Amino acid sequence: MKSRTASPTLTPPAPATATIPTPPIAPVTPATPATTGPALTGKVPLLDVNRNNAPIRDEIVAAVTKVIDSGRFLFGPEVTEFENNVAKLSGTKHAIGCASGSDALLLALQALSIGEGDEVILPSFTFFATASAAWRLGAEPVFVDIDHDSFNIDPARIEEAITPRTRAIIPVHLFGQCADMQPILDLAKRKNLWVIEDAAQAIGASYGDRPAGSMGIAGCLSFYPTKNLGGLGDGGMLTTNDATVAERLRLFAAHGMNPRYYHRVVGINSRLDTIQAAALGVKLTRLAQWTSDRATHAARYDDLLKEAGLDQHLELPKQTVPGTHVWNQYTVRVKGQRRDSLKAGLAAAGVGSEVYYPVPLHQQECFASLRYASGSLPETEAAAREVLSLPVFPEMTIDEQFTVVSHLARLLQRPARHAA
Ligand SMILES: *Cc1c(COP(=O)(O)O)cnc(C)c1O
Repeated sequence: MKSRTASPTLTPPAPATATIPTPPIAPVTPATPATTGPALTGKVPLLDVNRNNAPIRDEIVAAVTKVIDSGRFLFGPEVTEFENNVAKLSGTKHAIGCASGSDALLLALQALSIGEGDEVILPSFTFFATASAAWRLGAEPVFVDIDHDSFNIDPARIEEAITPRTRAIIPVHLFGQCADMQPILDLAKRKNLWVIEDAAQAIGASYGDRPAGSMGIAGCLSFYPTKNLGGLGDGGMLTTNDATVAERLRLFAAHGMNPRYYHRVVGINSRLDTIQAAALGVKLTRLAQWTSDRATHAARYDDLLKEAGLDQHLELPKQTVPGTHVWNQYTVRVKGQRRDSLKAGLAAAGVGSEVYYPVPLHQQECFASLRYASGSLPETEAAAREVLSLPVFPEMTIDEQFTVVSHLARLLQRPARHAA
């Protein structure tokens, strides 16, 4: 049993920054001018949201202006239209807008009445929100190790984590590739557990021909600006094929209120603003092209890195399940304990890269009371030491890719120092 009181909520805050969460994702950087000079002198950002928005700026401004003039800042027609379009893309009957991907996860668990005394199985190698949703409801996150090649939860290790208290499994479609869902769905059916997909990084992805978000009882999407469909701020959505769950999700997202001022359950206030839906609706029409551009860049990295012989030093990302990988990240493993020095070398050259995620969730201070020993999830801990995500945003140029690979070659092909 988890001792909730063990968490240090009542102790005074530690000095400095010990308990202040760092941003989940690299801050959205302002536009960097496209490189014009020789490859090695150009800077390459990890991501450039302004290059993403610039070509459709006028359309976005027009859509947002229309909302401003209408005065319907909540529940405007753009929200319903965008929900319908996301449902279509996700192959589900229903889609319910909410304020963020984090809220989507929380609402999914709330709608399924998961809370105190329950356990929820999920990977430790994911963004914090996957686990905090369960924790906030009084449920216990139970962390399962990942598969080495996909970075996704290892289906073979789930069964041993199931107890009589287990209620749900949350596979995360990390970096844009679906988790190996069939064995997870089969096991969940056999054990009578819910499956909630964390598809925050995987809008438009599929497992075979089944879209992300359509396989579990609910799918959770995020429109955080660094996601494949990034908004003008926060936003999220839930997808489901179950009409009862859809109704409960809407109920919980609206303070449990129905009819007005009559509260059937204690929910939260979580809505997708009309302005966000309007902007996202414009951007959704370009998503397929952006996804295909990401895939092109990923394939070119594969070729360039192999041609340069860098696959000796780097483990390249693998597509391990059939279907569409949407490449939210192109994430390599750096061999020989050189990840941090490589990242620093790239940064010194003006090339953005990021570590998603440096500290697995089972080793986070806030979950210390769960008492996971160091080494308890070896693949997760190895990934946290080795991964490095390279720029793969849709608008990046071939020159920029050459620049990234040239710097990787320069940095990796000199003799490795001791203790990188
Ligand atoms: C981004 C993300 C979330 C949370 O989404 P927000 O919209 O930022 O709240 C949850 N899970 C994963 C895997 C994510 O990448």
